[in-house]
Amino acid sequence: MIINLFALVGTCLTLAMGFRALLESNFVLAMVLTSAALIFFAAHLAIRFSSSYHLPSRLVLYSLSLLMLYLIYSGGVDNTGPLWTYILPPVALFLGGLSLGLFNIVLFSVLCLFLLYFNGGHFILADYTDSYKLRFILSFFTVTFLSCCYEYSRKASYEHIQSLSDKFEQLAKTDPLTGLANRREMMEQINKEYARLSRNNSTLSLLLLDVDRFKTINDGFGHDVGDIVLQELANIFTQNIRVHDIVARWGGEEFLIMLPDTNTQQAIEVAEKLLNKVATHHFEIKHFRKQVTVSIGVAELHPLTTVTNAVAKADKYLYQAKQNGRNQVCYDAQ
Ligand code: GH3
Ligand code: MG
Ligand code: MG
Repeated sequence: MIINLFALVGTCLTLAMGFRALLESNFVLAMVLTSAALIFFAAHLAIRFSSSYHLPSRLVLYSLSLLMLYLIYSGGVDNTGPLWTYILPPVALFLGGLSLGLFNIVLFSVLCLFLLYFNGGHFILADYTDSYKLRFILSFFTVTFLSCCYEYSRKASYEHIQSLSDKFEQLAKTDPLTGLANRREMMEQINKEYARLSRNNSTLSLLLLDVDRFKTINDGFGHDVGDIVLQELANIFTQNIRVHDIVARWGGEEFLIMLPDTNTQQAIEVAEKLLNKVATHHFEIKHFRKQVTVSIGVAELHPLTTVTNAVAKADKYLYQAKQNGRNQVCYDAQ
C-alpha cells in the first residue's frame, strides 16, 4: 500500500512539475519529468497486477534516483533541483531495508559526487558554488545518517514485537505443565485435518486417554508428584507416536491423541501399544516405584461424522473402559 502511495504521489508530483516546466519552455526538463511520471505509473500498475512488490519498489527507487541525478545535473529551477534529493534516503531505506537501502544510497552518492566534481564541475549544466556543493553533500549525508538510525531502531523494535508475538502465540497454544498442545490448539488441528480429510475422503482416529485412579496418586504422594506423573506420561505418548500424530492435554489428567490417515483398526493397535508402554513404565515416585495405568476410548472421524460427534464417541468408549475395570482400550466393535 505504501509503495503504491509512493508511486501515485510520484506520478502526480512529477507530472505537475513537468507541466510547469513545459509552460516555462524548459522542454528537456518537462520530458524527463513526464518520463519519470510514466515510470511511477508503471510501478502503480505493476502493484495492481502482480502480487510481488519487488519490481514496483525497484521501479520507484531507480526512477526516483535517476530523476534526482538529472535535477542535480540540470539544477532544476534556479538551482533548487538538489533539494529534492533529501527524499531519497528515507524512501531507499523503507523500500530496501537497512543494508540494501544503504547500498543504493552509497551508489547514488558516488554518482552525485561524480556529477558535482568531475571535470571541475563543468560536466553538468548547473553552476553551483563550491560552498553550495559542500553544504549540499554534508546535509545529504546527515539526512542519510539520521534516516539509517531511524530505520535501525524501527527494525529493532519490529523484531522485538515480532518475537514477543511469537512467544505469546506459542504460550496460547501449549499446556504449561507438559508442553503439549492445549485443548484449543488441538481443536484447531483436528478441524484443519477434518477439512483435509473431507477433501481427500480419508479418515483419522482419536484416542481419548484418562489416567486411572489419578486422585490416589495426588492424595497419596502430593500434587507435585501428580504433576511429574503427568509430565512423564506426556513424554511416553510423544515418544511412541508418529511425527504427524498430535498429542494434547485435553483436561486435568486426560489426553487426546489425533492420528491422521488412521482407521479404527490401526488406532486400536496404537492405543494397545500406548496402554502397554504406560503399564510397564516404572514411575519413580519419592523412592517408590509406582505403576500407573490408563484407560483409552477410540473413535474414528470420517467425512460423514462431525468432530463433536467423534470426540463424544471417544468419551463414551473411555467411560466404557472405566466401567469395564480400567487399564483397557474400548472402541466401536462393529
Ligand atoms: P478414574 O480412574 O475414574 O479416572 O479416577 P481418577 O481419580 O483419575 O479421576 P478423578 O476425576 O476422580 O480425579 C482426577 C484428579 O486429577 C482430580 C484432580 O485433582 C487431578 N488433577 C487434575 N489436574 C491436575 C494437575 O494438573 N495436576 C495434578 N497433580 N492433579 C491434577
Ligand atoms: Mg482419571
Ligand atoms: Mg478424568
